[in-house]
Amino acid sequence: MAFIPYSCQNIDDDDVAAVVAALRSEYVTQGPAVVAFERAFAARHAVEHAVAVANATAALHIGCLAFGVGPGSRVWTSPNSFLSSANCALFCGAAIDFVDIDPATRNLSLDALRIKLEAAAASGELPQVLIPVDFAGLPADLREMRALADRYGFAILEDASHATGASYLGRPVASAWADATVFSFHAVKIVTTAEGGLVATRDAALAQRLRLLRAHGMTRDASEMDGASEGPWYYEQQLLGYNYRLTELQAALGLSQLRRLDTMHEQRIALADRYDRLLADLPLRLPARLPDRVSAWHLYAVEIDAARSPAPRRQVFEALRAAQIGVNVHYIPIHTQPHYRRLGFARGDFPAAENYYAGALSLPLYPALSHAQQDRVAAVLRQALAA
Ligand SMILES: *Cc1c(COP(=O)(O)O)cnc(C)c1O
Repeated sequence: MAFIPYSCQNIDDDDVAAVVAALRSEYVTQGPAVVAFERAFAARHAVEHAVAVANATAALHIGCLAFGVGPGSRVWTSPNSFLSSANCALFCGAAIDFVDIDPATRNLSLDALRIKLEAAAASGELPQVLIPVDFAGLPADLREMRALADRYGFAILEDASHATGASYLGRPVASAWADATVFSFHAVKIVTTAEGGLVATRDAALAQRLRLLRAHGMTRDASEMDGASEGPWYYEQQLLGYNYRLTELQAALGLSQLRRLDTMHEQRIALADRYDRLLADLPLRLPARLPDRVSAWHLYAVEIDAARSPAPRRQVFEALRAAQIGVNVHYIPIHTQPHYRRLGFARGDFPAAENYYAGALSLPLYPALSHAQQDRVAAVLRQALAA
């Protein structure tokens, strides 16, 4: 039987034609397709500025830098995320810390955040930037975080790597509340440019800093220069930037993918609803449903309820893999990684994230997953949980 991955890219003939056209055009590095992709992405998410970069890790890095994160800064994020959500602070020489998750949403817990902020305010150790993560595509509690950010004076850099096309309080992610929002276009994500990322923001000055940081800190725009132009060749380096550009080939693919975002989102929603029905009676905690937000459904992550299931997660995982079903686990809590333990974190520091991880299982979910394949996943899972 054919292997069913947990996620995979969705490439059609229009995507192929778009990349070929870009390849035959005058530009292959940064040119008009990057600008068109940024504009289309910003329009779809109702946000003024979009800065496309090589990947979301680079986006998180320059996002931190644009907020002035450096040695002496503190950055907080969720332990239930991919490594980049925390690594970006370390890239800047800043200190990282975590806020435990809400077991229902698996997103950074508002209650834990409030408690930690109160303690940090008392000890003078408030964060400069908070990086909430929209886990599995479910938007974090951004409205309440905005109020806390205004009260305590930190910036919100939302990691929406899972959440392209999601909405919160009736508005697209990135259109309100966060100061800047990061997206990923890695092959397993909602839309892909093979590798790619983006920072969206409503702040024009922040967007300009992000553009400088994306390309060596260099400008050819006279309005951004210290000195007078010495001629048509003249450029200035204004700050220490990187080469984090997205290519024309990738942007052409992204632009083509974006045209199918809403269709693919509907397919993901329908499959998630179907999983809810197929799995309702199993000893699992299913993804949260909240009336005020629409998940992008990057992942359909379930949690095996150890109290009700005789089978441990490892056994269930291996039974599914043996049946050619590509389940996965998102995420090993970041603070338990050896690199982070060497920084002083320990198992037990963020118990809700650790408990969730102990039973977590991401089931296959992508637009082209057929009902027959989904039925097979549910049947094998049912059998494995009973064993
Ligand atoms: C995928 C992912 C990233 C990193 O994305 P890249 O584009 O691969 O660098 C960061 N954060 C989260 C939550 C992710 O899922």
